[in-house]
Amino acid sequence: MGPKPKGVGIVKNYFQQKAKIRQLSAKVNQQNNEIAEQQTTINQKDDEIRRQQTVINTHTPIQISEADPFPTLTPGRVAELRRMPYEEYLQTPEWKQRTRMMRARFDNRCQTCNSNGGGRPLEVHHRHYDDVGYEKPTDLTVLCRECHQLIHRMRD
Ligand SMILES: [Zn+2]
Ligand SMILES: [Zn+2]
Repeated sequence: MGPKPKGVGIVKNYFQQKAKIRQLSAKVNQQNNEIAEQQTTINQKDDEIRRQQTVINTHTPIQISEADPFPTLTPGRVAELRRMPYEEYLQTPEWKQRTRMMRARFDNRCQTCNSNGGGRPLEVHHRHYDDVGYEKPTDLTVLCRECHQLIHRMRD
């Protein structure tokens, strides 16, 4: 038996090389897909972090200064407001002034979701009812209607 004809070896080698190249490029494609998937995950995490940062930046509660209280009333008027039924108190000029001052202090933003109420006036919520009629600013907070209703559903 003599040596194989040279041409056969070259053709075989050529097909082996081609198969190897196909395998390698399949591997490269697979790795590219994995990288793309990882990039998507990274982008999603970046998005999430940006959203959280926005919430932190826009939703840091404004500190209410006790040095900036509501206007002082006479003891007689305070007693009157204290005696009033709650619904009646909510109609008084004193309560209306307090709600206006609270909305201004919180820059017209709901203190839960940061909404501006979408055209409806924000509501002023009693954090507790101990001081009704002579509230301090820290007894109150400002909420959109949705968050206000949610808080009362959770609480009542
Ligand atoms: Zn809200
Ligand atoms: Zn309320």
